[in-house]
Amino acid sequence: MKVWLRVFLLQVMVIVIACSGSAIAEEVLTHVKVKGHSSKFIALTFDDGPVQGITPQFLSLLEKYQAKATFFSVGKKVKQHSDITKLVIAAGHEIGNHSWSHKNLVELTTDQQKLEIQQFQQQVKSLGIKPTLFRAPFLKKSDSVKQLLIDNQLLLVSASVMAKDAKKNVAVSAIVKKLSADIKSGDIILMHERQHTLNALKILLPLWQEHGYQFVTVSQLIALSKVTEGKSFKFERLNFL
Ligand SMILES: [Zn+2]
Repeated sequence: MKVWLRVFLLQVMVIVIACSGSAIAEEVLTHVKVKGHSSKFIALTFDDGPVQGITPQFLSLLEKYQAKATFFSVGKKVKQHSDITKLVIAAGHEIGNHSWSHKNLVELTTDQQKLEIQQFQQQVKSLGIKPTLFRAPFLKKSDSVKQLLIDNQLLLVSASVMAKDAKKNVAVSAIVKKLSADIKSGDIILMHERQHTLNALKILLPLWQEHGYQFVTVSQLIALSKVTEGKSFKFERLNFL
C-alpha cells in the first residue's frame, strides 16, 4: 500500500474513533424504559425554584399522594431560601442542578459555564447533598457544557413531556389537558414552580394515581430501569430541540 494511502486511512480511523468518543457527550436523558414492572412510574420535575410561599405548597400536595419529585433548583435562589431547600430534601425529594443563575449557558465562555455548574454544587454541599443530575436553563446546551457535565459527574436531563407552564398566566386547564394525554410509564415531566402548575397538579395527581401511576424521582426512575434490564439504562436522544 502506498504511503500516502496508509496515512490517509490512519487519519480516517482517528476521525472515526474521535467521533464515536464524543457521541457519549451528546446523550441526554429524556425518559427511562421501565418495562417489566407491574406498577407504572413517572418522574415529576419542577424547575426554577425554590420559591417562597409556593415550594412549601408543592411539598404538602406531593405528600398527600406519597409522591417523590425532582426539583431542578437555581443556585442563587437556594442561597436566598436555603431553609426551603432543606424542607425539600427532608421530605425525601431530589435536588437537581439547574445552574447558578439561570443564564443561557450557550452564550457564556467555558469558564463562566464552569462557574454556573460548580457554584451550584458548592452551594448545596453545605446542605449535605451532591446532586448528580443537571438540567440546562432553557434546555440550551453546547459541546463545552456537555463536556463540563461529564467532568463534574452530572447527567444531563431533559424531559419527554413539557407542561409549557413557564410563562405567567398560563391557563390551568391548558396544563391539565397537556399532561393528562399521552403519559406513559417512564416519562419525565418538565414543570415549573408556579401557582398555576400547583393548581393543575391538584387535578392531575389524583387522576394519574387513579390510572395506577406512582411518582418517583429521576434517580429512582433510573434505578428502576437498572433493576429491570440488569444493566445500565439506555439514553434517548433529545429530539425536540
Ligand atoms: Zn429553568
